Amino acid sequence: MRQELAENIYQQCPLIYRGRHQGPDKNLMCFGFECGSGWYDLILTLSVQIEQLTEKLRDEGVEPDYLPMVTQVKEKYGGLRFYLTVSTDKMDELIGQAEEDSMRICEECGAEGKLMVAYGRFLTTCCEMHRIPGVPYNEADDEDE
Ligand SMILES: [Zn+2]
Repeated sequence: MRQELAENIYQQCPLIYRGRHQGPDKNLMCFGFECGSGWYDLILTLSVQIEQLTEKLRDEGVEPDYLPMVTQVKEKYGGLRFYLTVSTDKMDELIGQAEEDSMRICEECGAEGKLMVAYGRFLTTCCEMHRIPGVPYNEADDEDE
């Protein structure tokens, strides 16, 4: 993800991204968002929701050490993965929904996309314009078409 986009997410969600300078043995956010810029809106929306829930926990008196902190955000098998140190059921639900939504958003540009599979391996979620030449979409996944 482009640096200025990442910075914008950090700025809006300082609490949950507070560990990003801790170093790779503690927090993998030192590598930034390990996915394409097309998921910026998706990750920003999710982050803001979790930031607000975390602020609420802090205001309720939860100790700083026990407040959720993002440790890694990346692409895996064409989908978003979003990891927290600790989480609530509501946070898990929001993360699950965003990870599901990511499979329909082009990782490159944010347009409507589809998961592409090649050689039995998940590759990427992308739109018609950013699809990898010669690699078919995973048509078996299209239940509603
Ligand atoms: Zn695209």
